[in-house]
Amino acid sequence: MAKMTVQDVDVKGKRVLVRVDYNVPLSEGGEVSDDKRIVASLPTVNYLLEQGAKVILCSHLGRPNGEPNPAFSLQPVAKRLAALLPGVRIGFSSDCIGAEAAQKAAALQGGEILLLENLRYHKEEEKNDPAFAKELASLAELYVSDAFGTVHRAHASTAGVAAYLPAVAGFLIGKELSIMGEALENPQRPFVAILGGAKVADKIGVIQNLLQKCDSLIIGGGMAYTFIKAQGYGIGSSMLDAENVGLAKNLMEEAEQRGVKLLLPTDTVVATAFAADAEYKTVPCDAIPEGWLGLDIGEESAKLFAQEIRNAKTVIWNGPMGVFEFPAFAKGTAAVAEACAHCQGTTIVGGGDSASAVKKLGYAQQITHISTGGGASLEFLEGKILPGVAALNDK
Ligand code: AMP
Repeated sequence: MAKMTVQDVDVKGKRVLVRVDYNVPLSEGGEVSDDKRIVASLPTVNYLLEQGAKVILCSHLGRPNGEPNPAFSLQPVAKRLAALLPGVRIGFSSDCIGAEAAQKAAALQGGEILLLENLRYHKEEEKNDPAFAKELASLAELYVSDAFGTVHRAHASTAGVAAYLPAVAGFLIGKELSIMGEALENPQRPFVAILGGAKVADKIGVIQNLLQKCDSLIIGGGMAYTFIKAQGYGIGSSMLDAENVGLAKNLMEEAEQRGVKLLLPTDTVVATAFAADAEYKTVPCDAIPEGWLGLDIGEESAKLFAQEIRNAKTVIWNGPMGVFEFPAFAKGTAAVAEACAHCQGTTIVGGGDSASAVKKLGYAQQITHISTGGGASLEFLEGKILPGVAALNDK
């Protein structure tokens, strides 16, 4: 069911608690070294400011393990936020709950911001402790969820607070849900899903869910070798998820029964070692030599996959086609990224490694949507209920 967004409620003059994702990297000098996530929060923050809301921002940063620790302070974020929003009054509370936060939240005027210190200074945050959630909620009159990267976790700030406040989605989450939701529920066809990455075990749920929805399923990356093994071929020393060979076989049968075209690599780049400078060559997937390990899809497979992708009307991609961290084994991932960039349909790249690959290769602008949450987007593709989304008010 569709969820309410900031645009469905009156926010003027209201104290609004916004869960953002300011889990940003800090330099050794304690400066924000990449402000992408702060910039990504601005559409929601600016909208609320323009509407005259009193904006209370909260986030986690790193893993302070439930205790105050200056190394994980959000103070550098306040500084960067001030640079990005000149003219806006931005206050800071050294604790996300307690007297200081309550007093500063109460004193806020419309169009002003209060940034709260790291939520994870309290162990109750990740435990979704109701008393902590209630105290956090008591700062505000409305809750806006806009940290997609954490909606698959039931924490106090991502789900718990919604028990005490009206809860709606911000623009970032709204976009994630509408684009990915539309692709899963009502895709333009042909719908091509591409899955890669290391382990079959991590993606079983996604494969099972997407098999019911897509027209073609492309499997590459380390997980492909378990499928090649299930086809009855030797895979040398390639990555193998031994426990899931039977499951891979079942999934291949299910694809056939459902009329889903399953594309596995037909050739692969094999190397003598898992190393950037290892000796390598391309071989057919039914002739992987003993002692060699597959680290990328081959050129023929890349062409086959690219052709399928270019003709699609909807593409969802999660997981690299090879060990793209090593330039010699990044060609397959690059070919898939390029094909996605040239596809005229809706293209969605799940967070994590495939998202970094697309950005690194300079194709980000040509992709319809790059998800901001690795784990969250995987769980969304699995068809799982995300606690941080379920907690929001229905339209
Ligand atoms: P995931 O987090 O499951 O999407 O996996 C991403 C990781 O899978 C990356 O670090 C890749 O280096 C790795 N990977 C991709 N292909 C292979 C392969 N053929 N063998 C080993 N690791 C791989």
